[in-house]
Amino acid sequence: MTHLLHRSIHASLPVAVRGEGIHLFDATGKAYIDASGGAAVSCLGHAHPDVLAALHAQLDRIAYAHTGFFTTEVAEELADRLVDDAPEGLDHVYLVSGGSEAVEAALKMARQYFVEKGEPQRRHIIARRQSYHGNTLGALATGGNEWRRAQFKPLLIETHHIDPCYAYRLQMPDESDEAYAARAAGELEAKILKLGADQVIAFVAETVVGATAGAVPPVADYLKRIRAICDKYGVLLILDEVMCGMGRTGTLHACEQDGVSPDIVTIAKGLGGGYQPVGAVLLSKRIFDAFALGSGFFQHGHTYMGHPMAAAAGLAVQTILKRDGLLGNVRAMGNHLETCLVERLGNHRHVGDIRGRGLFRGVELVKDRATKKPFDAGLKLNARIKKEAMTRGLMVYPMGGTIDGQNGDHVLLAPPFIVGKSDVEAIVERLADAIEAAIASV
Ligand code: PMP
Repeated sequence: MTHLLHRSIHASLPVAVRGEGIHLFDATGKAYIDASGGAAVSCLGHAHPDVLAALHAQLDRIAYAHTGFFTTEVAEELADRLVDDAPEGLDHVYLVSGGSEAVEAALKMARQYFVEKGEPQRRHIIARRQSYHGNTLGALATGGNEWRRAQFKPLLIETHHIDPCYAYRLQMPDESDEAYAARAAGELEAKILKLGADQVIAFVAETVVGATAGAVPPVADYLKRIRAICDKYGVLLILDEVMCGMGRTGTLHACEQDGVSPDIVTIAKGLGGGYQPVGAVLLSKRIFDAFALGSGFFQHGHTYMGHPMAAAAGLAVQTILKRDGLLGNVRAMGNHLETCLVERLGNHRHVGDIRGRGLFRGVELVKDRATKKPFDAGLKLNARIKKEAMTRGLMVYPMGGTIDGQNGDHVLLAPPFIVGKSDVEAIVERLADAIEAAIASV
């Protein structure tokens, strides 16, 4: 008998006891291919000896020093590394313990920036429907995942949501990518004008949508148009790359592929690859300068921010990513994954869409391909797929359709960057079998 709430609620979960490479093992010795990296976290796989060595060495040096009294070499080194490889203009780093903390800090930074600049009337955050930015209250308010928000609404700050850029469902049949990008981005301009251009703090978006809609990349030019609209009205652009960043899509930052530099970017998950809880906010010089010339500090903080062990994990993971040229493997294996998914599932009667970038791929299931009608949410098809996949020794990240009925069940694949060709093929085979079995059960 355990008092762990997680066990009390999820009685049937196996107990993980060991990890190695792309596999996790449970207490019975059963192996699972970690095809989702947990939740797009384990980018180097499990028990990487070089990360373990770096963590042991850091533990021998110093495990903790409160940021109110000290900085540490390892935190400074990680920040310098992140800036060296960051999109243009981002030149300061704020280290935190995860994705939600990164988003909270980003929102407060954006607000304080305008206070420092003498524009304290700016108070609105605009984000998108069918997005996820974390489960703490500010991040939850920013996200547009209705299922996660519903019961907490009375506690959430007011935010404003526009439609996501979601070609499969929202692009019209005869609409070009260019026209759709203009229409989707145009929603931001309309919202800014409605709220009052001098009232808006920031627009927040996941570069490639993860946990709500399953690896949905923007169409070409969408983010460039968003950047231009933000610039036109002096609104900050915050890109949330907690899930899609740090190499997951084949470039270190997903927005590199869109030719856009945000004012603030949030990262976590793949930053430390699951070896420690770590996240970060990268911010532009102009935001830093506003703090430096104004009050001289950023009014925020957490006990564990800049934690040396977390920084050591981030530094080791990022060093190995570069040293071993793993972004090249993400691109090559990402292409192979896409090819295998399309070959195996592309004509499946219940597969509506296969999409994504790099080793970040989504499969959307539909009841009817012609109408794109989702399965009834009550059938919990995504949970059935997860169960069937686990039975077959495969971890995939399942998501239900949104409660507004605007999309269907999804499966997200985010395997470690070290996967090989035969691993990818095994993942797709097991996934296809799991999908078939799950559908047969509804
Ligand atoms: N932003 C995005 C885009 C995410 O995918 C997540 C986690 N799935 C978060 C924020 C929250 O991160 P965490 O769970 O580490 O708090």
